[in-house]
Amino acid sequence: MDTSESAGAPFDLVVIGAGPAGLTAAEEAQRRGWRPLVLEANSQVGGISRTVRWRGNHIDIGGHRFFTNDARVLQRWQEWTGGRMREVPRLSRILYRRKFYAYPLNLCDVLLNFGLIDLARAGASYACSLARPIRPEVSFADWVSNRFGHFLFRRFFKSYTEKVWGISCDRLRADWAAQRIAGMSLPVAVLNALGRGRGARSLADRFLYPALGPGSLWEAVADRVVAAGGELRLEERVVGIAHRDRRVVSVETEAAGGTRRMLPVQRLVTTMPLGDLIAALDPPAPAAVRAAAAALRHRDFLVVALSVARPELFPDNWLYIHDEGYQVGRIQNAGNWSPQLVGSSGTSLILMEYFCSRGDALWNQDDAALVRLAAGELAGLGFADTCEITDGHVIRELNAYPVYDETYRSHLDIIRTYLEPFGNLSPAGRSGLHRYNNQDHAMLSGMAAVDVLAGVPGTSAWDVNIARSHHEEQVVAS
Ligand SMILES: Cc1cc2nc3c(=O)[nH]c(=O)nc-3n(C[C@H](O)[C@H](O)[C@H](O)COP(=O)(O)OP(=O)(O)OC[C@H]3O[C@@H](n4cnc5c(N)ncnc54)[C@H](O)[C@@H]3O)c2cc1C
Repeated sequence: MDTSESAGAPFDLVVIGAGPAGLTAAEEAQRRGWRPLVLEANSQVGGISRTVRWRGNHIDIGGHRFFTNDARVLQRWQEWTGGRMREVPRLSRILYRRKFYAYPLNLCDVLLNFGLIDLARAGASYACSLARPIRPEVSFADWVSNRFGHFLFRRFFKSYTEKVWGISCDRLRADWAAQRIAGMSLPVAVLNALGRGRGARSLADRFLYPALGPGSLWEAVADRVVAAGGELRLEERVVGIAHRDRRVVSVETEAAGGTRRMLPVQRLVTTMPLGDLIAALDPPAPAAVRAAAAALRHRDFLVVALSVARPELFPDNWLYIHDEGYQVGRIQNAGNWSPQLVGSSGTSLILMEYFCSRGDALWNQDDAALVRLAAGELAGLGFADTCEITDGHVIRELNAYPVYDETYRSHLDIIRTYLEPFGNLSPAGRSGLHRYNNQDHAMLSGMAAVDVLAGVPGTSAWDVNIARSHHEEQVVAS
């Protein structure tokens, strides 16, 4: 049945998506005295940062560390959790050919684990890159080779990065490295080995974490929004956005039973993928804008949760698996993030993370086959016997990673130029801006989007996390 809500509906702001960006925008709007309506396609809040319940376990999709350089974000986390986040020590290593390497890379491990020949090759290759750096530095491969030498690039960066992105490191733009691993280089690895380095500017060795996973924080924020008079509608997907004279006038939603509804809009914050936003516009955007939107790519992701009847498999929060012979990219050990994530004592909750693209061979496998694959790989890496793996559960996540390929920036410019004159629409978030944002930047973009709609001069959600430096982050991707 189709319904239409009258133009007098009392919402000052409609928010598409109840992930970190959308919920922060809704909460921020309430601080301004606005009444928000949040429309979420999923049956629960939190977006990629949600917590999935499975047989007494709490599954964090991807392992969400809470870290930030921004005081406002920190203040919100404290306010929303009553300061009750755990402080977790970080241990995450690279596993390559059955040997562990610290992450960030530490020269001691390289010296201990490499033979003399490999050491000589690594040294010679680094000397070459110093003498003849690749210029201009366009691709991820160029960026890393210039700082570590081609040999170490191939050994520690190439295979994992290509697992994550599904494209060659020659096609991945240097922007991504510059945004995520600023400050990393071989000299920094040497300083780390001497105990003098700070890793890259960022690599925090502790992080905050809600005991029941990131989703518990976002559920608390959703409850606050509703308690303060906002409305949240789950399982209601936005499928159309009508506009006139560069203003959004209504959104069309589709709910679980096929019900369609038209909702009037005064102001709109959207965190839906940018490509979906452009495709939903009515009347349609110009052909060049639609083509640019359709060309933005995402990498998808799936997690196979395994229940293992052994309490301590390895001490790390997570491991990066660099061996080409394994499809798994990362392995999370949930109990090392928070023991409360694990459903029953005496067991481990292991999350096997696979990077893929919808429709590819991995994505198309049925759940039982994926559980068999993950169990076989965990056993093959020597962490458990297959008979100890008692159960498995698969979670598929579309649009997990906005891809920074050779063309994304020019496409993004076209889309931004088209959208910016819309007076009452502001995109925000990770997919909403096609930016590799963590929760803190997703939140800041949600706040900025509300500021833009409130007419605060000089604000733009597009500019959050644009600096080519910042960050905590990993050489290898998160
Ligand atoms: C593997 C992995 C590991 C990560 N690790 C970390 C980490 O350690 N620390 C950290 O801070 N961040 C981490 N992140 C990033 C974090 O997940 C994101 O930054 C954050 O969830 C982005 O929030 P968002 O609201 O922008 O988008 P999302 O979380 O994607 O939420 C968007 C919401 O919009 C909804 N939606 C989409 N389309 C529609 C529609 N048409 N109608 C209605 N609703 C719609 C979706 O269902 C979703 O709920 C990680 C991400 C991944 C993939």
